[in-house]
Amino acid sequence: MDRYDVVIVGTGPAGMGAAFSLLDKRKDISILMIDKAPVSTGGMRNDCKMNFTFPIGFPFEYWTKESADRYLEEVKAFLKPDILPKSNISTYQTRAEKLGCSLLEIQQTHLGTDGGLRLIQKLLTELQEKGVELSLREEMLSINNEQRFITTDLREIGYKTILIAPGRHGFHFLQEVMQQLGVRYMDNILDVGIRVETRIEHYPIVRDYYDPKFYFPEKVRTFCTNSGNAHVVKEKYVTERGDIWYSVNGHAYAADESRNNGLVNFAILKTVRFTEPLASGQEFAEHLGVMAALMGGGKPLMQRVGDFRMGKRSKVATFNDDLYDFQPSLKDCCPSDISLAMPSKILRYIWSGMKKLDTIIPGILHPSTIMYYPEIKLYANKPEYKDEHFQVADSVYFAGDGAGTSRGITGAWASGIRASEGMVEHL
Ligand SMILES: Cc1cc2nc3c(=O)[nH]c(=O)nc-3n(C[C@H](O)[C@H](O)[C@H](O)COP(=O)(O)OP(=O)(O)OC[C@H]3O[C@@H](n4cnc5c(N)ncnc54)[C@H](O)[C@@H]3O)c2cc1C
Repeated sequence: MDRYDVVIVGTGPAGMGAAFSLLDKRKDISILMIDKAPVSTGGMRNDCKMNFTFPIGFPFEYWTKESADRYLEEVKAFLKPDILPKSNISTYQTRAEKLGCSLLEIQQTHLGTDGGLRLIQKLLTELQEKGVELSLREEMLSINNEQRFITTDLREIGYKTILIAPGRHGFHFLQEVMQQLGVRYMDNILDVGIRVETRIEHYPIVRDYYDPKFYFPEKVRTFCTNSGNAHVVKEKYVTERGDIWYSVNGHAYAADESRNNGLVNFAILKTVRFTEPLASGQEFAEHLGVMAALMGGGKPLMQRVGDFRMGKRSKVATFNDDLYDFQPSLKDCCPSDISLAMPSKILRYIWSGMKKLDTIIPGILHPSTIMYYPEIKLYANKPEYKDEHFQVADSVYFAGDGAGTSRGITGAWASGIRASEGMVEHL
């Protein structure tokens, strides 16, 4: 059996944050990183927009402002971001406050999908040069912590301490690992919403603030804004029963005027927190996703605001009306009626948020604006952690979005550093 001091599962920001931090603390240890994908699959690979201000990306359950700020300083010192300039913020903030909303002013940088890929490759090369062994296209299947080894699709690997950071897509996998380890967990929170796509003229704030973070009443917020060469995409999910559904998402390439498509997209999400007797927010989300896929013939749904306001479904034929002055960037999507698929309470709060947004920045409710559904974030596994370094069982650590310790690249990186501090104590 191959044996290492440290095994890290997942080469996303949580895994990388931990690896660099471990190398910094202990030069004499052997580290193996594995990833089932050829290149990490999370947000560093998709859009790579990084936020450096608490609480963006830092769940309150695990972070105080003081602790997040401390780790963010480390993340910043390492990644050396070029913080994007902002302007006219106080004007938008005043308008928002009049409606009982707020606009958070945060430090951001945006590398784009192409820039993110270059960053991942640079960081992985650096890790290898520092002695980390990297095994891509290798998937962890199970763990035997009594005998300190994991089984992958290729072999068995022994460890002294292990970090498992499989991201949002590793949600089910992490639940299986927790069952193997006997770790108790909850998954009762999820974000459900839509992705809005429109022309930059209808949401010109993005010229002043790349990814504006608006907070509306009833836990509704804007999230992940992309503009310039911006695209809506779909992500595939498979339930344990084998049903396939898609969540929409968005990304943009690095700034380049010549490739600008003039569009902007962003999510409006409502956080939903369940209590007894519902056991799993994940299962609830899957039912919503499968329902949308059923209506859309296996595709996500889209509807123009003009049709939505009239209570009409959008159709292929009506999708090209003269008012509808741009084509959807996500082609493989079904023109439909999202109000048939979305729980009415969630839709009502989201629509109310959109109306407020249209008052703060007039234009977003132009009839041509497209609402894509569903956009669902499934990252709320909440294991019972044994300490502040995210240890779940003796010498086993979790970190990142799949484990609920972060909701973004910088939070995931910070979680990795925090876990690494506990791992060092095991060596
Ligand atoms: C399309 C998209 C766009 C996003 N855009 C942004 C953004 O612009 N800014 C932002 O801050 N956040 C963004 N996010 C969120 C961001 O991806 C996460 O917050 C962040 O990547 C979490 O880091 P992580 O290390 O926890 O997981 P990930 O980055 O998801 O990495 C987990 C890795 O583990 C691997 N893995 C999973 N299971 C196994 C297994 N069993 N064996 C081996 N390897 C495994 C996966 O292949 C993956 O590479 C985006 C997410 C998506 C999906």
